[in-house]
Amino acid sequence: MTQSEALAAASQRLAAVTAAIRHQEKLAGRKAGSTTLIAVSKTHEAEAIRPLILAGARHFGENRVQEAQGKWPALKADFPDVTLHLVGQLQSNKAKEAVELFDVIHGVDRPSLVTALGKAMQETGRHLPCFVQVNIGNEDQKGGCAVADLPALLAQCTAAGLEIIGLMAVPPAGIEAAPFFALLAELAKRHGLDQLSMGMSSDYETAVLLGSTHVRIGTALFGERG
Ligand SMILES: *Cc1c(COP(=O)(O)O)cnc(C)c1O
Repeated sequence: MTQSEALAAASQRLAAVTAAIRHQEKLAGRKAGSTTLIAVSKTHEAEAIRPLILAGARHFGENRVQEAQGKWPALKADFPDVTLHLVGQLQSNKAKEAVELFDVIHGVDRPSLVTALGKAMQETGRHLPCFVQVNIGNEDQKGGCAVADLPALLAQCTAAGLEIIGLMAVPPAGIEAAPFFALLAELAKRHGLDQLSMGMSSDYETAVLLGSTHVRIGTALFGERG
């Protein structure tokens, strides 16, 4: 593919996803543009990411600190207005590196990580907005704090000085996501949080209808991951 073909393909995918988001915002009676589109570029190389930036995408997501360290410092130098979101699990021993590179953290889900992030933000002077991840389907082996543990974790975040702007979740695979999105929205409301990081390639339209403010989309923008 030539550079101009890559740019045309990226522009087309970005336009299609953006149009679908605008449509759902309108259906829901929401303001046009009230949903942030995060292009999840995990596993994709810088050469595949650049066309999407040139096409106008300004929010990107990665799920591994080390992988992001390999490609984003150079991309951020070229495109300083890009916002980089960490959308995956974060190990406490990587908290400082994550805070140095990313701009928003979506996976705050346990007390040890809250402590590590609080310390990393103090040390670096970078106070990043964060989402608390909720294990909304109460699944084994899934990231996110249990629904029952959410009030205590939010209190700990406040005590540690973390700026929590909303809740994030990945609903169980293979079943209708809407009830889980609705539950996450209800939990956020209950705790006075107005941002919701929910919705991926297969279910973002439903998520926007149910109030998502941040959709995290990989496949629909980049194609299948290898
Ligand atoms: C990979 C990933 C996404 C994007 O998934 P797609 O189905 O490719 O859109 C969104 N959120 C998280 C947490 C991910 O790990």
